[in-house]
Amino acid sequence: MGEIEIDNLTKRFGSTTAVDGLSLDIEDGEFLVLVGPSGCGKSTTLRCLAGLESESSGDIYIAGDHMNYRVPQNRDIAMVFQDYALYPHMTVRQNMRFGLEEEEGYTAEERDERVEEIGEMLGIANLLDRKPDELSGGQQQRVALGRAIVRDPEVFLMDEPLSNLDAKLRAQMRTELQRLQNRFGVTTVYVTHNQTEAMTMGDRIAVMNDGELQQVGEPLELYHAP
Ligand code: ADP
Ligand code: ADP
Repeated sequence: MGEIEIDNLTKRFGSTTAVDGLSLDIEDGEFLVLVGPSGCGKSTTLRCLAGLESESSGDIYIAGDHMNYRVPQNRDIAMVFQDYALYPHMTVRQNMRFGLEEEEGYTAEERDERVEEIGEMLGIANLLDRKPDELSGGQQQRVALGRAIVRDPEVFLMDEPLSNLDAKLRAQMRTELQRLQNRFGVTTVYVTHNQTEAMTMGDRIAVMNDGELQQVGEPLELYHAP
């Protein structure tokens, strides 16, 4: 269960109000796309959800637990950024295994099996012994996704994860991300400034502007809105 409740979230940086009283409920297993122009507060919202940024006011609950930036939580949240941030000195296998190191309840063998399984699923099983600099951008992005999902997170946060890819690969990865989410039912918040991505990927779309939530709805509802 990974439902998210955001209640009147505000985040200021000095005199800039990056997020301004945002309230939003995201259901367990939902794929929510957060869309809006550059600088409207999408990343800051996501970073607050991830516990990477402290809120100025307001509350965030994940699976009913109050998230508090100052008190580390034991929630299983995976985040994928625009720059994949793979460890350059590690192989793909080691990068993916790294995501499992902190997890209890796996034997060494099970960790290896899990990496193989996710590698198969993402079509990178033949690349497991390469280093990141021997991979294309799209392959690196798959590894970053693999490292995030290998430990079966309850919440998956993605910040423009496809923006460094070319159009063809982006379309392909879009489909794959949806398939992954359908298969695992992980609650996903996906940040993008790309309308097409928002329309095609989201169960629901939350439109932000200038720190505020403007609209929330299913793609067709928003599309047909006057
Ligand atoms: P988006 O992700 O929609 O592009 P951001 O959340 O990155 O928007 O930024 C929202 C606003 O907050 C912008 O005006 C940005 O300059 C500002 N901002 C974001 N992070 C910081 C920070 N660490 N320090 C100061 N201002 C910031
Ligand atoms: P995105 O493109 O995903 O919105 P940004 O490139 O705006 O992200 O921000 C990347 C990093 O820089 C974040 O850690 C953010 O907090 C920080 N940042 C963004 N805007 C500012 C700003 N005006 N001043 C200081 N730091 C900022």
